Amino acid sequence: RPLERSARIFVAGRRGLVGSAVWRRLSAAGFGALLGPDSTELDLRNRPAVFDWFSRHRPHAVVLAAARVGGIRDNATRPTEFVSDNLRIQVNVMDAALRHGVERLLFLGSSCIYPRLAAQPIREEALLTGPLEETNEAYAIAKIAGIMQVRAVRRQHGLPWICAMPTNLYGPGDNFHPERSHVLPSLIRRFHEAYVERAPKVVNWGTGTPRREFLHVDDLALACQILLERYDGDAPVNVGTGEDLTIRELAEMVASVVGYEGAVEWDPLQPDGTPRKVLDISRITALGWKPEISLRDGIRSTYEWYVRLLQTGE
Ligand code: GDP
Repeated sequence: RPLERSARIFVAGRRGLVGSAVWRRLSAAGFGALLGPDSTELDLRNRPAVFDWFSRHRPHAVVLAAARVGGIRDNATRPTEFVSDNLRIQVNVMDAALRHGVERLLFLGSSCIYPRLAAQPIREEALLTGPLEETNEAYAIAKIAGIMQVRAVRRQHGLPWICAMPTNLYGPGDNFHPERSHVLPSLIRRFHEAYVERAPKVVNWGTGTPRREFLHVDDLALACQILLERYDGDAPVNVGTGEDLTIRELAEMVASVVGYEGAVEWDPLQPDGTPRKVLDISRITALGWKPEISLRDGIRSTYEWYVRLLQTGE
């Protein structure tokens, strides 16, 4: 059954990078009954609260974009929170959705669920074919459990729930915390501060040689809408650009957008993470989607967003 514009859609995680973009996209597409309590109204780790919320609001569909996320250092230093919070959030939401017979549920995974040394670009079939990258295995295991719960509900209860596996995301609404954020917001903040303070050098983490792929979250949000409206396959769907670059090249791009002209150094004592992570996107492009926002344009607009955030108070 097609998703009607009047369907009550619960966007779990609506204050986050992904949830806020999905909210903007679905609103723009005319979905008029979006539901998005923030974490002060509903803590998704609290099982009774989640069940109570579902029985009061009765959503027809759920976009499960709520998660504890963070960069390489945050994942490595707080694995307990990454495994426990994510498992609780997703199990509570999916159990409550099943209890209420929610027809459509889109679970957002991550490209870190794939084996550390998976063949590149990574196809969806690579799931569970090898050991994970250690720096984020707690998060990855939680996300893999989520994929398995979706698969189990599909098989046992016949509900057309689906999974999307986005690559590294960025955009407005990202977290720019100096220790905890992902690489792109970290670099934007570091280069911006160095530019403002006229610092002679910046030091980035790792060797700069790992390769990563970056997708603007507005592109992901459109993919989510397309998947909700047109896809009900059993297999998870990768969402990325299919193109990667080295962290060093990324740093050069951020420096040039910010206008920073000082030296750039690397601290090899900081972790590099997985050597390469780029997704095969044939499955999602076959559904008529492709990324629209180039990395340089996306960095520029995200940088503008960040500067406005600083001006209006963090
Ligand atoms: P990952 O893609 O799961 O490894 O997560 P991140 O986005 O945190 O990091 C990607 C890569 O960027 C790793 O190779 C890091 O060593 C490198 N990197 C360089 N500088 C930074 C930084 O300031 N913050 C973060 N998070 N990563 C950095």
